[in-house]
Amino acid sequence: MIVKQFKYFPFLLKLNAPFQNSSNIITERKGFIISMMDEQENISYAECSPLPGFSSETFDDVETILKGLRFQLQGFSFKDDLHSISEFLSEFKLVPSLRFALEQVILNLIVRREKDFLVEHLGKFNSNIPVNAVMGFGKQEDIISSISKKYGKGFRTFKIKIGRESFEDDFRLIENIHEKFGDTINLRLDVNGKWSLEAAVKYSFLLNMFNIQYIEEPCKGILNISSLAESSPIPIAVDESFHSINEAKQIIQQSKIDFIIFKPTILGALIGAVDFIKEFENCGKRIIISSSFESAVGKSALVMLAALTGHLYAHGLDISNIFANDICTDFYETINGYISFDPHFYPPLFDLIFK
Ligand SMILES: [Mg+2]
Repeated sequence: MIVKQFKYFPFLLKLNAPFQNSSNIITERKGFIISMMDEQENISYAECSPLPGFSSETFDDVETILKGLRFQLQGFSFKDDLHSISEFLSEFKLVPSLRFALEQVILNLIVRREKDFLVEHLGKFNSNIPVNAVMGFGKQEDIISSISKKYGKGFRTFKIKIGRESFEDDFRLIENIHEKFGDTINLRLDVNGKWSLEAAVKYSFLLNMFNIQYIEEPCKGILNISSLAESSPIPIAVDESFHSINEAKQIIQQSKIDFIIFKPTILGALIGAVDFIKEFENCGKRIIISSSFESAVGKSALVMLAALTGHLYAHGLDISNIFANDICTDFYETINGYISFDPHFYPPLFDLIFK
């Protein structure tokens, strides 16, 4: 394949309502859509959206690199396979969200050229992907009423952001949710690192009566989280406290942490995610693919990865209704708590309009 043209377009999406966890408030998403055209004039799109507070790079960092890449990439040629994409990209100085976007744009272009590429090279995909609904901070009655609404729409897995100043407030919320929904839902708790190790040990035993699927990022730092996983009666998940695929591999191989929350945009890994999923698909630990508030373009790649994991634990991909508007049609809307995926129709034909 020869790169005939490479372009980028900035975008900004407003959230319907601010989203708050124990450390950040998000009100809007800024990013870039990148496009690549090959010598046969096939065009593909991808998204680069660093997430403030979580990504190591900023929107401005990405723009500076993109300016240079526009000229550098033109005329490059490489083989149409995953390994060659990785090798090709290692020639450039990139940041994670941009690495993810370039892997997405090239993979999508390869699939445009070779229709059965995904099925032939990546293997089996789930056709129905369960997704969790996420509840940020808010009043207890509002959270419970949001869960009821989502339950009515078919959701059965809920991730609740906790880690309030008073643990009693968190406990009461979980107790009330459990009282209302019992074991008809799977409950996940995300603490975003707010607890000390000592507190987390204590709380994990106190919360054990509620049939929690996992506690995510209970405290800060992988050493503390691994230590908690040794004794916690509730399974433990790790999210923002690992920063590379190598660290994720060590967690799987050396700790009792059961769930890895994998955010491809933050880690800068799409092809890396494919390899990681394949390497650990039978290890008994679960890889949960999670969005970082991407638009419909970035989300499409995450849906493909979630379908590849093979298991039926919910993924963190319910962002369909989070934005006041999207930049194009979302081909992977959540219906009855599931997203449908067919590798033969991937990537979707995005109806993007750039002025
Ligand atoms: Mg998290």
